Amino acid sequence: MSIEKIDRDLCNGCGICVKICPMDVFRLDEDDGKAVIRYPEDCMLCEFCALDCPEEAIYVSPEKTSPLIVSWG
Ligand code: SF4
Ligand code: SF4
Repeated sequence: MSIEKIDRDLCNGCGICVKICPMDVFRLDEDDGKAVIRYPEDCMLCEFCALDCPEEAIYVSPEKTSPLIVSWG
């Protein structure tokens, strides 16, 4: 698992992480509309979420990050 946490004080509920994650890891909480990590075991370490979050609210474990996959071959 490399997705670590979402800072819910920073999250604005924009939903970008939900749309951009290729592994469908996130959901928006039904109560407050903010992002939650629903399926952390599916994370493939791409870091798209952390790079694209406008509030820099997503933390990915850097020591476990693998090189960006740009092609599935
Ligand atoms: S991209 Fe960032 S600000 Fe937007 S919902 Fe996800 S965690 Fe929240
Ligand atoms: S690092 Fe990639 S696979 Fe993991 S939660 Fe973020 S966008 Fe999804």
